[in-house]
Amino acid sequence: MITKRISENQIEYNKNLIKKYPFLARGIYDYDTKEYEFTWLDDLEPGWRIAFGKNLCEDLAEALKQDGCEDSFQFLQIKEKYAELRLYYMGGGDATRECIHKYEELSKYICGHCGKLATKITSGWYYPLCDDCSKEVHSTFTDIANFYSFNSYDDIIAEVEHIKTNYKYGDYWQPLK
Ligand SMILES: [Zn+2]
Repeated sequence: MITKRISENQIEYNKNLIKKYPFLARGIYDYDTKEYEFTWLDDLEPGWRIAFGKNLCEDLAEALKQDGCEDSFQFLQIKEKYAELRLYYMGGGDATRECIHKYEELSKYICGHCGKLATKITSGWYYPLCDDCSKEVHSTFTDIANFYSFNSYDDIIAEVEHIKTNYKYGDYWQPLK
């Protein structure tokens, strides 16, 4: 017998989500509801999912269409590393890469807990948090502008706006030294 860990509503929600965005499917299972227990979106930090989960899905669907890679694209792993989102995948072309990198870059400035603009990065284990969420975490912090070598917090706000509206992979790509 399979113990259901999530509600029927949640399964229905995930089912619709995967119907709309097939790349969110976690894999094929033998029994009928299991495959809808989780989607790849569940691996996003909660704040990131709130802030840009929907946009990521919409943009990625569009990018895959553009690249003609809707059937071959597959996520391999989604995680947080060094205070930013890492999306590992196979398949996809230039538009896909552009889209993936855009959201990895954006995540650096978004609170992983609530989705507001981050103001701090935790020390040791790097993680972006806003003022409110940082109060609930036992850590020391680095100011986010310092952490990313910006002059002021206004520059962070401008950077976030730039990524959202005018992101180009080429502007951020750096050759290995
Ligand atoms: Zn927060």
